[in-house]
Amino acid sequence: MVKKRLANGEPCAKCLQAEQMLKTRGLWDRIDDVVWADELDPNSDGMLLGKKHGVDVAPFFIVEGDDGEERIYESSLKFVKKELAAPVSPSTSKEAPSTEDLAAVAEHFAERDPAEIVRWGLERYGDLCTIAFSGAEDVVLVDMASKTGLPFSVLSLDTGRLHPKTYRFLEKVRKHYGIEIEFVYPQAQLVQDLVRKKGLYSFYEDGHTECCSIRKVEPLRRALQQYDAWMTGQRHDQSPATRSDLVVVEKDDTHEGKSGALSKLNPLAFWSSDQVWQYIRENDVPFNDLHERGYKSIGCEPCTRATLPGEHERAGRWWWEEATKRECGLHTG
Ligand code: SF4
Repeated sequence: MVKKRLANGEPCAKCLQAEQMLKTRGLWDRIDDVVWADELDPNSDGMLLGKKHGVDVAPFFIVEGDDGEERIYESSLKFVKKELAAPVSPSTSKEAPSTEDLAAVAEHFAERDPAEIVRWGLERYGDLCTIAFSGAEDVVLVDMASKTGLPFSVLSLDTGRLHPKTYRFLEKVRKHYGIEIEFVYPQAQLVQDLVRKKGLYSFYEDGHTECCSIRKVEPLRRALQQYDAWMTGQRHDQSPATRSDLVVVEKDDTHEGKSGALSKLNPLAFWSSDQVWQYIRENDVPFNDLHERGYKSIGCEPCTRATLPGEHERAGRWWWEEATKRECGLHTG
C-alpha cells in the first residue's frame, strides 16, 4: 500500500480512511508493506512508485501476481473487491429450507448472540442473502457480516424522499466497510402518476400506505426476487403493536425469492435499543447524524420527526397516524 505523507508530517485523510476500512474488515494483515510517498520528497519510495506506475493519487495498491505482473489499484474499494474479498459463493440457490426447518433454526438461535445468526445466514445463503439497510440496527448487521469475512449483499431502498443526512450516512457506510450497496428505486411512472394526481404530500391527508407501497413495498418485492434470504434489523420492542411476534429466523410469506421461497432473518429481534447502541459505541460503527438531533427511528424526511424525551422510539414515524398503522408495509406486504 502506498500512502501519502503531507507536508505537515500527517498521513493524508484518504489514506487513513482506507486503512481504517481495511482494519474494520479484518483485512489489514493482508497488506504486506506500507510505502510512504512524501509530499516534500519526490525521491521517496512511494513517490518513485507513483511515477513508475503513472499514479498521482493516494493511497494506491500494488499487487504482484503469480506471473510477476503487477496490478495497480487506485480505488480501495476495487482493491478489496478484486484482491481481498472472500471467494464469492456460487450464486446458485440451494434447496429452500422448509417452514419447519426454519422454525427449528429460530428456536436454536433465539437466545444466542445475533452475530451467530448472521454467520449462520451467510454460511447457509452466501451472497444470496442480502441485508436490507437503512438505519442503525442494519449497520450493526453490516458490521457483524463484515467481521465474518464471508460474502454478503446489501440493498437499500432509495425512496427519493430520504433526508440529506441519510444519503451522507449511506455513503459513509459504503466507504467505511468497502462494500457495494445495491440502491433500489421506485418505478418512475408510478411516482409520476401519484405526484401528478395527489401532489408531493398526499400521505398527510390520506395516509402513508399508497406512497409507501410505490416507493418502498414494490421496489423491495422486486429486489428480493434475486435472493434466497434477507436480513432485517427489526426488533420486538420497536413496536409492541406490530412486532411482538417476531422470531430470529422465519419463512417470508410476503415476498418471493430467487427460488420461490425466501427466508427472513431478524438477528436483533430480542435486542433492545440500548444493546444496539452499546454495540455501535463499542465497535465504532457509523451512524446517522440525525440520531444526535433527537431522531430515533429514521425513515423518509417528510415522515420522520425527532422524538421528545420519554416518547417511544417510533413515535416520530408517521406521527399523524394511529400507532397500530405505523408500518410501511415492508414486513407485512
Ligand atoms: S415514508 Fe413517507 S415519503 Fe417515504 S414512502 Fe412512505 S409515505 Fe412516502
